Amino acid sequence: MNWLTNFVRPKLRALVSRKEAPENLWMKCPKCEQMLFLRDWEANQEVCSHCGHHMRIRPMKRLPRLFDEGKYELHPLPRVTADPLKFRDTKRYDARLKEAHAKAEGPKDGTTDALIVASGPMDGRMAILALLDFGFMGGSMGTAVGEGLVMAAELAVARKAPLIVFSASGGARMQEGILSLMQLTRTTIAVRMVKEAGLPYIVVLTDPTTGGVSASFAMLGDIHIAEPDAIIGFAGPRVIQDTIRQELPPGFQRSEYLLEHGMVDAVVHRHQLRETLIRLIHLLMDPIRSEGRGLAVAVR
Ligand SMILES: [Zn+2]
Repeated sequence: MNWLTNFVRPKLRALVSRKEAPENLWMKCPKCEQMLFLRDWEANQEVCSHCGHHMRIRPMKRLPRLFDEGKYELHPLPRVTADPLKFRDTKRYDARLKEAHAKAEGPKDGTTDALIVASGPMDGRMAILALLDFGFMGGSMGTAVGEGLVMAAELAVARKAPLIVFSASGGARMQEGILSLMQLTRTTIAVRMVKEAGLPYIVVLTDPTTGGVSASFAMLGDIHIAEPDAIIGFAGPRVIQDTIRQELPPGFQRSEYLLEHGMVDAVVHRHQLRETLIRLIHLLMDPIRSEGRGLAVAVR
């Protein structure tokens, strides 16, 4: 014990904590670097009020804004073997999972993974939503996500409801090796089930949608909507640039670039997502009532 620990350290701590308090109320937009009041930013669905930058929002924050009067039902994912390969890299996979569960926002029954499945009315019509959670191990697709998407597809078929997927993922979950790669085919078959039942399958691509998810169910929608300025692609731009040894065009792999090149049908602001999805559901499920209203009208 000396004056450093007894006197200087508490003083320093007080200084640091005093600094932290105002920072908790404010945040900086990573794009335009303007300060945002946290409560306003949350009310604005985590979109910057200065430049319109769409930040990554977790599924549980999205859900109340999508369904009628914010009412919906959560469906726990089917139970799967948690760590089938007993995988370990710098950390054990089961330890990583435990950490992710502690920060997870879905049903608190231990089945939560990087996918949230919910059902509820959208303009009076039942819809099944499956949202990838980038906050849970980078939205990576392992067995639980695959099983969850199959369950969502089965729910859609059983209830004759459209399936809407919100994608946000870094790709397949490498800790599950081949089992995670198998989910590419399983989810593709799940989507097919919905299509064979004559039900709409709509994908909302959000930042970032890459890897195995973009190579399977995220690119199989009847209609693809993207949030503004989202990164959408298979491999990241740096990997591509290093492989082909060429400079990539500006805006490459962003929503607007993909819209221009025909990979995406519409780029829609987060605030307009609910009404756009409702218009699309009516157009696809009830074409006679929506006669004369083309897709251009529906997504405007
Ligand atoms: Zn901004």
